[in-house]
Amino acid sequence: MKYIGAHVSAAGGVENSPENAHHIGATAFAVFTKNQRQWTAKPLTQQSIDAFKANCKKYGYEPHQILPHDSYLINLGHPETAALQKSRNAFLDELQRCEQLGLDRLNFHPGSHLKKITEDECLATIAESINWALEKTSGVTAVIENTAGQGTNLGFSFYQLKKIIDGVRDKSRVGVCIDTCHAYSAGYDYKTKAGFERVFQEFDEVVGFNFLKGMHLNDSKKELGSRVDRHESLGRGTIGLELFECIMNDSRFDGIPMVLETPNSNIWADEIKLLKALQK
Ligand SMILES: [Zn+2]
Ligand SMILES: [Zn+2]
Repeated sequence: MKYIGAHVSAAGGVENSPENAHHIGATAFAVFTKNQRQWTAKPLTQQSIDAFKANCKKYGYEPHQILPHDSYLINLGHPETAALQKSRNAFLDELQRCEQLGLDRLNFHPGSHLKKITEDECLATIAESINWALEKTSGVTAVIENTAGQGTNLGFSFYQLKKIIDGVRDKSRVGVCIDTCHAYSAGYDYKTKAGFERVFQEFDEVVGFNFLKGMHLNDSKKELGSRVDRHESLGRGTIGLELFECIMNDSRFDGIPMVLETPNSNIWADEIKLLKALQK
């Protein structure tokens, strides 16, 4: 079973997100449980939590169809102690919000070394941040997203994702989300079926499909290996539709939330239909 949707709005409260997903014909969705551009947020009210759970039930969304995303400000690999702790606290708050909402995974960008520590030191710091937060929570898996490798962002290669996982003590609560735009921008050439087979064989050997807990389905505005993160609507970018046809017809991508983060929300319903139509 393929679960397909988009990163929908939580305007007016996270409890509104299931209905927003339902309106575009989604069987999965992503959402921010707080404002993604602010460090702190008011705690979720019991009313909001209850309404979110009721709406998920009403529209048929279970936890494994939902991929909450944390704040963009968080850097779990920050080279400076005070700033690192600020990020860890914010990440813990995000995990706790997921716990309260009954969600089972949280998607986040690994972190940046800011040219102050080595890549390996940064990856080890990220793993320790995950350990620190997992020990204080239960039931929520930390889902590391691959990046485009823009600036000093790490997690742009499968080897870096694997290195972080290696440093996490509870392997049952760590996973990855592959963003198709980011991997292409980072240099993974899978525009064709042959490329798709090769890249995901490498993914399986290095990371393992058992760790795949979500997908971000985006085309890219930028060229292969550009290391620039600019999403495009499906079939309108430099990747094209063949990759998405391969994904939609491969059972290794079953049972996880696969969500669009494409720029034109007005055509999300059409993009979801398109993805379904690619299934043979
Ligand atoms: Zn993404
Ligand atoms: Zn992106």
